[in-house]
Amino acid sequence: MLSMKNISKVYQTEKVQTHALRDFNLEVKEGEFIAVTGPSGSGKTTFLNIAGMLEPFSSGEFMLDDVNVGTLSDNERADLRNQKIGFIFQGFNLIPDLNLYENIEVPLRYRGIKAAERKLRIEECLEKVGLASRAKHLPQQLSGGQQQRVAIARALAGKPRFLLADEPTGNLDSLMARQVMELLENINTEGSTIIMVTHDQELARRAPRNIQVVDGQLADFTLYQNKSSDSV
Ligand code: ADP
Ligand code: ADP
Repeated sequence: MLSMKNISKVYQTEKVQTHALRDFNLEVKEGEFIAVTGPSGSGKTTFLNIAGMLEPFSSGEFMLDDVNVGTLSDNERADLRNQKIGFIFQGFNLIPDLNLYENIEVPLRYRGIKAAERKLRIEECLEKVGLASRAKHLPQQLSGGQQQRVAIARALAGKPRFLLADEPTGNLDSLMARQVMELLENINTEGSTIIMVTHDQELARRAPRNIQVVDGQLADFTLYQNKSSDSV
């Protein structure tokens, strides 16, 4: 469970104060798949970064599975992030001179996971995203859609309860975007809670729950009862 109550975020630069989020309220239940849409600059990335504990919030209460995030030390917060959160970004963020296997391995090493366990997880995750035969390839030898699947495998290798995706299909053509969406749907079915920011209305409609951020607040939300893709 992820819950935000009256979360506000103020960015203060020399002359300008920006309220990126104001009194933002949201409850996310275990196993949900949520698409987040809204105008540019409305606070979507800020919300996602706060949800992933990548940046602090200014006020309000943020609970992640009964842990009050605002009360944690830097180390406790980093541990919680490593345990529970996986990220996927628009630009894939793969390391260009490491092969796919090594790319997935980096965060596992960082978490102190032993070699044998790393190998198991990496092979399983590469299999899951359909790239098992490409383990030795470099990112540049793959299409954009395949690179994003590696980034998804890297996130999955951490066994995250929450998968946070910021415009994961923003750099992909519509076919590849759909493949990435299908992969996310499978991952969700297997139990990860997914929150995905997207500009793509068609993809958003495929998610079981849509929320919209406008001016730093949840504007509206629609619960789509029927997940079948009648809109596609
Ligand atoms: P979205 O993801 O919906 O496009 P963002 O969350 O990126 O919106 O930004 C929300 C608001 O906060 C915007 O007005 C943006 O300019 C501002 N903002 C975001 N990051 C920073 C930052 N690091 N410093 C100052 N202002 C920022
Ligand atoms: P920096 O100081 O390098 O710009 P940040 O802007 O990420 O780093 O964070 C500023 C301070 O807020 C740091 O002490 C950081 O540990 C803390 N912080 C970061 N994320 C959170 C969070 N989700 N909740 C509370 N504090 C946080």
